[in-house]
Amino acid sequence: MNNFNSHRTLILNSTFQPLSIRSNIFIRDFNTCQYCGNSAESIDHIIPKSKGGENVWSNVVACCKKCNLIKADKLLNQTILKLKNFPIKPEGNFWIKTIIGSNPDPEWKEYLISA
Ligand SMILES: [Zn+2]
Repeated sequence: MNNFNSHRTLILNSTFQPLSIRSNIFIRDFNTCQYCGNSAESIDHIIPKSKGGENVWSNVVACCKKCNLIKADKLLNQTILKLKNFPIKPEGNFWIKTIIGSNPDPEWKEYLISA
C-alpha cells in the first residue's frame, strides 16, 4: 500500500461521515457563511471535489454566493478567504440542543450528556 492509500484509509476510518442532508451543514454552521459571516445560501467544499476533496463534515461549509464565487474551484490559500471556524462533525448533544434549545426543561437533564 502506498502513502496515498494508507493516508486515504486513515481519513476514511477516522473522519468519514456521509452527509445525508445538505441542510445539516446549514444547521451546524447556523446558516452563516463560514468565510464572511453573512447569511449562507450555498455549500462550499474547502478542498474542491475536482481536487480530491471529499463530502465529509471537515471539508464542507455553508457560505454565501459571493464567497462561493470567489472560492470557486480553488484551494483556500489561492483566495483571499479565511475560515471563521474549522468545520467539525457535530458531537454529543449538538443535534438535541439544536432542536430543544440550550436550556432544556430540567426534567430532560438526566437524559442529556454533559457537554
Ligand atoms: Zn461569504
